[in-house]
Amino acid sequence: MSEDQGSDTCLFCKIIDGQVPSSKVFEDEAVYAFNDIEPKAKVHVLVVPKHHYRNVDEVAKADPELLAHMVDVSQKIADEAYLGQFRLVFNTGEQAGQTVFHAHAHVLTGEDLSASHT
Ligand code: C5P
Repeated sequence: MSEDQGSDTCLFCKIIDGQVPSSKVFEDEAVYAFNDIEPKAKVHVLVVPKHHYRNVDEVAKADPELLAHMVDVSQKIADEAYLGQFRLVFNTGEQAGQTVFHAHAHVLTGEDLSASHT
């Protein structure tokens, strides 16, 4: 996927719109959360702002309350999945492993992850 990808062709915009299927976990007016199709933990949920931002830094600068809300939603997912404990990952940039250029938080939980520090 190209880093130049705009909201017209953005995969996560299409998932939020329902044009591309996903396994929804949570939705409100600001965010959409769904199970990652290639889970890296027993529970691996992507928390995605509905507004198209390219990465977490854009979210933080444009709308810090939205970023705080993404963390709060992540916490609630972990509260239900595993002791309120979770790893939160924001890949930012191609060489950091970002492949979809619509901001998203990886929420990894559902099991003991203490042996797999990254
Ligand atoms: O951080 P990164 O941009 O690499 O994360 C994108 C994530 O989106 C990947 O973990 C990938 O498995 C997930 N994905 C998905 N559903 C799709 C396409 C990608 O859950 N249809």
